[in-house]
Amino acid sequence: MRYKRQITLPEIGIDGQEKIARAHVLCVGAGGLGSPALLYLAAAGIGHIGIIDFDHVDESNLQRQILFTIDGIGQPKAVQAKERLQALNPEIEITVYEDELNAENAPDLFQAYDIILDGTDNFETKFLINDAAVKYKKPWVYGAIQGFDGQASVFDAQTGPCYRCLYPEKPKARIANCAEAGVIGAVAGLIGVTQALQVIQLVTRHESFEPLFGKLWTLDTKTMQTRILNIPKNPDCPACSKKRDDVILAYSSPVCGFVPELTPQQARGRSNSCLIDVREKEEWDQGHIDGAQLWPLSKIMAGDLPDLPQETEIILHCQKGMRSLQAAQILKVQGYLEVYSVSGGYEAWVNCFEDASE
Ligand SMILES: [Zn+2]
Repeated sequence: MRYKRQITLPEIGIDGQEKIARAHVLCVGAGGLGSPALLYLAAAGIGHIGIIDFDHVDESNLQRQILFTIDGIGQPKAVQAKERLQALNPEIEITVYEDELNAENAPDLFQAYDIILDGTDNFETKFLINDAAVKYKKPWVYGAIQGFDGQASVFDAQTGPCYRCLYPEKPKARIANCAEAGVIGAVAGLIGVTQALQVIQLVTRHESFEPLFGKLWTLDTKTMQTRILNIPKNPDCPACSKKRDDVILAYSSPVCGFVPELTPQQARGRSNSCLIDVREKEEWDQGHIDGAQLWPLSKIMAGDLPDLPQETEIILHCQKGMRSLQAAQILKVQGYLEVYSVSGGYEAWVNCFEDASE
């Protein structure tokens, strides 16, 4: 009864439903893409679902990560996701991994599943997924969103190009994914649901289905314009042109690490450090802290980093203390060892020292 409406489709039928029940699908990330994808995969009856996510539910996730509710705030996403999905469909098996996908756990995980769904928001993990998929001969369903644009594809290096045929190397200016880029939940939803549908096509493989193997499907949600671009296989691809044994899995965590914060008093007391204002030029011109130097977040995000030795103690501040956290994340990922952020930013600084002088 549960699957009657999809079994009725001749392209699915009892046969297709049995394939769906036997499928093992690993979803990497239970966030903006993973949430809608997982809901549809569980509802469709994918028999074995793996969910790997290291993160905890935050209030700011709820706008797009529709697996979660306010009751789950602070709880592990993978566990919350499983609970929600089993409430929807107790007939399927769900395994959770409260971890980030890395070079150590990828081999076992990739060998245990038939298809990998990419619900990540960072290049580092996408490259790892790709390389592990090439190495262990698994198809994976790619998805990405940026602003109002989304894209999806299916990569299977056994028959076509891989992700590195499209993007050979990681971008030099590593973009922090932590919180900075804006997104409308429904845009993530469109891409995540597209990924779920691709998985169902890959599992059931009806002859009329044309999964996006080697094709990049793009969607501009401002105009609803879609395109399908063919991705050529690169004979010199750094992943799929190699022998499988020669594909080395590498991963350095892009996870937003802990950035220690300093109060304005603490920051001012550290005389050997370099104080950097990451606001934009217009804000700087309206008032800034004596002794600080301007290096806007926009520059840092574009990969233009302050020319300082990596062991320099760097204290970042912005207007209210949010952008400096983002900037600090990027500098840490780029190898700077001692990075701090001023809590409350310029506003707190000005309040603090005005009050102190009165
Ligand atoms: Zn390739």
